[in-house]
Amino acid sequence: MAGLYYHIPYCKQACHYCDFHFSTQLKSKRSVILAMQQELKLRAAELKSPLRSIYFGGGTPSLLTPEEIAVLIDQGQRLGRATSEIEITLEVNPDDVSPERLKDWKNAGINRLSLGIQSFSARDLKFMNRAHDVEQAHQALVWIARQFENFSVDLIYGVPQEQGDSWANNLAIISEFKPPHLSCYALTRERGTAMDKFIQRGVMPEIDEDQAQREYQTLIHWAQELGYVNYEFSNFALPGYESVNNSAYWSGLPYLGIGPSAHSYDGQTRSWNVANNALYLKSIAQEKLPITREELTFVDRYNEYVMTRLRTAKGINLDEVARIFDQKTRDNLLKMADKPIQQGLLIIKEGHLVVGAEGKFLTDGIASALFLVNLGS
Ligand code: SF4
Repeated sequence: MAGLYYHIPYCKQACHYCDFHFSTQLKSKRSVILAMQQELKLRAAELKSPLRSIYFGGGTPSLLTPEEIAVLIDQGQRLGRATSEIEITLEVNPDDVSPERLKDWKNAGINRLSLGIQSFSARDLKFMNRAHDVEQAHQALVWIARQFENFSVDLIYGVPQEQGDSWANNLAIISEFKPPHLSCYALTRERGTAMDKFIQRGVMPEIDEDQAQREYQTLIHWAQELGYVNYEFSNFALPGYESVNNSAYWSGLPYLGIGPSAHSYDGQTRSWNVANNALYLKSIAQEKLPITREELTFVDRYNEYVMTRLRTAKGINLDEVARIFDQKTRDNLLKMADKPIQQGLLIIKEGHLVVGAEGKFLTDGIASALFLVNLGS
């Protein structure tokens, strides 16, 4: 089982908080899509079959033409000997959605959409410099709900408020639509972004961790009441609608990332492409892969295992730790988990180490307390 990820490195405008790789100059789009087809050909042997999911992320994949999408799907399916129930997701922005485009995307082979709404507050959207407005967000959601059975909505919490409570309002609006899947992320200050600079200059307020934590707790309770399963820290699904792509990632399954800045993982090695469209094009034109590879050590693999599994509702399977690593590592993990267990942050449930309700928002911090330190030996 494996996943294929296409990184589409273009956006209409830069969101203030974003540190993903993208360009707002669309001139090279056609050449990059052709180069991505070439890269996939060169790396076909790395595509573990059968392929269970194809994910178009970015950037803004809804800037591609339906023909460009269809070609990439077709090539991935062929080379990955895709299963018939393959999940094929396209990330879309509300301002690119129309009933005609939805039909075209479906005809191209897309069977799941991920809609980047982020907020229904005009002030929040302006604060984040999103390209769409509230009306477009509503309209896109109405159209998608009519034409797609399987779709997800992205929301961002922790956006500084001057007055009012846009998060409660966002959840109230989402309740009316009840999308099958939701991904909710905390607004974070990433180094070098426009938001980082605005905060430094004092023209934007600092992000308030306490507000983010309160809003996350509200989200957890709201989601539970509506019947969503919080199967991973940021991901919520109605039963049967967990994303194949996301679940594979959090279960440590291999995936191949194609396109500028795309990351790949094969169980032993992590690799990433150059995050520069011109260098990517140049390298592929010379039939050279623009890749940096990193062989994962025992400690890397263990730490990554702990981080990814702890974010899931299932948690860390202690027997699996002994099987994949060794008994000593399992015993050591339990020793390190003792303090967070005493604090009520972690619990042991049916042989799994799981984050308790109290520790939920602190998941990443709890995971790092369970990491092994690489002493270079
Ligand atoms: S649309 Fe997405 S990828 Fe593009 S700048 Fe905004 S957050 Fe980043």
